[in-house]
Amino acid sequence: MIMMSNIFSYVFLFFVLSAASIKLWLSWRQIVTVKSHEGSVPKAFSEDIPLEAHQKAANYTVAKMKLSNVSTVIDTVLLLALTFGGVLNWLFEVSELTSQGNILSGLVFFGLLGLFITAVQLPIDLYKTFILEEKFGFNKMSPSLFIKDFFIGLVVTAVIGSVFIAGLLWVMETAGINWWWYAWLLAISFWFFIQYISPTVLAPMFNKFSPLENDNLKERIEGLLKKCGFQSGGLFVMDGSRRSSHGNAYFTGFGKSKRIVFFDTLINKHSADEIEAVLAHELGHFKLRHVLKLTCFMVIVSLVFFGLLGALQQSAFVHEGLNLKAFGSSSMLLAAFYFGLPPFLFLFRPVFAAYLRKNEFEADAYAAQQAPAKELIKALIKLYKDNSSTLTPDKLYSAFYDSHPPASARIARLEASMN
Ligand SMILES: [Zn+2]
Repeated sequence: MIMMSNIFSYVFLFFVLSAASIKLWLSWRQIVTVKSHEGSVPKAFSEDIPLEAHQKAANYTVAKMKLSNVSTVIDTVLLLALTFGGVLNWLFEVSELTSQGNILSGLVFFGLLGLFITAVQLPIDLYKTFILEEKFGFNKMSPSLFIKDFFIGLVVTAVIGSVFIAGLLWVMETAGINWWWYAWLLAISFWFFIQYISPTVLAPMFNKFSPLENDNLKERIEGLLKKCGFQSGGLFVMDGSRRSSHGNAYFTGFGKSKRIVFFDTLINKHSADEIEAVLAHELGHFKLRHVLKLTCFMVIVSLVFFGLLGALQQSAFVHEGLNLKAFGSSSMLLAAFYFGLPPFLFLFRPVFAAYLRKNEFEADAYAAQQAPAKELIKALIKLYKDNSSTLTPDKLYSAFYDSHPPASARIARLEASMN
């Protein structure tokens, strides 16, 4: 077994370092490409986007890339410190002081781990909000709101996380040889439960949601919903402007309780025609079953993961390869899985991103049937301009990461659909 675990150590290290190198390389490409196009607005946008806004978007993109490089380095060092560096072992030993090998010590272990990771990442969050977003005029958050969000987030995560982890550890300890199957059922049920309570219980802890009051807009949206055969639990406006001037719209919940939420920033900056077109795009994701397909995908992939977790419990090489002690402990098994797996999943990212981009094109095509394509184009250009999103991404960077196709590609297809 010593041989196998040595091999796993090298393979893991290779994947961790390769993933970090690929991330840094792609980000460098993105910076170079965006900078090389900074001098002039792409032809298709030259009427709607002034040079000044285009250059702001370039500077904003480059600043975000540089920060993401710092994050990549910090996360890589953190992962190596947790595993090879022995931090997980140390946290485990501390948690064992409370009570040995039961659910309580497991909760202490994950609590300490969560606090440790949060503390390491906090400076990046602070920098992003109060320096980067502030510099480009997007941050609307006061330090006191940041602190309030931080603590509410911590408490909510602690409560939800403790219930879930306690349940998971309990199943692992008591459900016998096929525990991973029950653990999967528990995880899926828990996920659906969180989705269900999120719009009415969790989200209102952070934001205020008020029913959409603009009658003209409301009437048009209800008309569109009816035309598309969509049942909703209500139209809401969220006070997103308390934190940021970035605009958005989303769906939340499921079944008949689905809510449509607009950021106030979106409502304020877009015409009723544009909002209707944006909503038609979002409805496309539902009508074309993108949401359902992604949920099924998540359910199946998580079953595979739990199966892997079950197999991991039988063999010590991954555990030892990551330099982890306490083989046989359920908490340590979860930690080995949680930190051991992601570097191997990194290469699936472009495949998944390509699938998401295909969905975006389909939702655009659906929207163009329900509302005028030219309104969606107008809304897209405005969103890109107001959010300072780059119009000239690097091809490889975009292929690897982007869940949405570049603006130029989406607009070109929408224009083609108008002829
Ligand atoms: Zn979409």
